[in-house]
Amino acid sequence: MQINDLIDIKNKNAKSILNELRFKDMLTKKSIADSTKLSFATVSNLCNELKVLGIIVDTKVGEKRIGRIPDVLSLDCDQFCIVALDVQLESALGFAIVNLRHQIIHKQLFDISHLNTAQEVVEFAARVFQDYLAANPDSTVTYIGLGASIPAVFDSTTGLLALSSLPIYENSPLKQLLVDAFNMPVYVDNLTNIGALSVYTCYPGHKNIICLDVSQGVGVGIISEGSLIRGKNGYATEIAHMPIGDLSLRCPSCGGYGCVETELSLTGMTRCFPDVDEELPLLKRWECLIQKMRNPSEETESVVRHIGSLIGQLSAILINLFDPDIFFITGYITDIFDWLKPYFYQELTLRSSLSMNRSLEIIVDQNAKHFNIYMGLCDALYNLWNPLH
Ligand SMILES: [Zn+2]
Repeated sequence: MQINDLIDIKNKNAKSILNELRFKDMLTKKSIADSTKLSFATVSNLCNELKVLGIIVDTKVGEKRIGRIPDVLSLDCDQFCIVALDVQLESALGFAIVNLRHQIIHKQLFDISHLNTAQEVVEFAARVFQDYLAANPDSTVTYIGLGASIPAVFDSTTGLLALSSLPIYENSPLKQLLVDAFNMPVYVDNLTNIGALSVYTCYPGHKNIICLDVSQGVGVGIISEGSLIRGKNGYATEIAHMPIGDLSLRCPSCGGYGCVETELSLTGMTRCFPDVDEELPLLKRWECLIQKMRNPSEETESVVRHIGSLIGQLSAILINLFDPDIFFITGYITDIFDWLKPYFYQELTLRSSLSMNRSLEIIVDQNAKHFNIYMGLCDALYNLWNPLH
């Protein structure tokens, strides 16, 4: 066996131990060995190494019984944090410090409407982080990395952002700029991939997950057999231009006709009601749509049937392609999902009956509308973290 293979196995075992301790306190080495299926000796040796590194700590318990009290271990979660940036919103930068247990230690939102390039945004974010460190001079926290949620696809071949909904990030080497400015491991990804990773962490035991987000655009993140699907360049799994919509409607983004995003985006859905003023800000138009759905009419019923059927057809395609354990729906669509539900399920029962009959779990979580991006970034960086290095 190669020496590198042995190091890999050791790191993998250390991570298995930390996975047990990440959200649970006060575990004994024996209980960790039982749940990880590692030998007691392996667990004991690795725990000692992790203790030396300050990653796990002994938690003393009182003498409850006669004889030797076993070591009880906990993760020192506050000592290991990530820096999280949310650059999805136009003119705004979200900044947060999150510990390994998803707890947000610090959170701020900044107006960055005066910034014009990705480089300027990165320099601004670096100053925010330096100010945070200066305000907490006694901190001994180790930052295991920085995560950024982006309104684009990260092209892993060129290292540039592509298909960005915010022009200032298009073709920018955002990841490299962040590595240079922060000098720590960096993870950049779009919202739906981050969402899928977080569902994977929050629903242990499920290895096949689809996370569909319908908000300003239509996006999807897919975990297959425990791995996020990215494709050759990182463009997978783009569904916005799937031509299952109204063939008379031209897509403003690709120029084709019938793209599903043209109809299922917030803008597209609000256009179903011609009397909603297109000059209003998008979220105001969305409120008008919700208001209309609260007051049933023939027009409303027809719109509900159309949107419900379309999202059902899109979901059926994804479910049939990937056969998931969990199908997770997030985004503003959850505001109106109760009305869409009969038509959505009608399509799934018709087109995805195999998965439906095998108890596919469909989760439409309204709380996920404001999906905690910072939590997902924390999971992504934790997955990349090599604790023994
Ligand atoms: Zn299109």
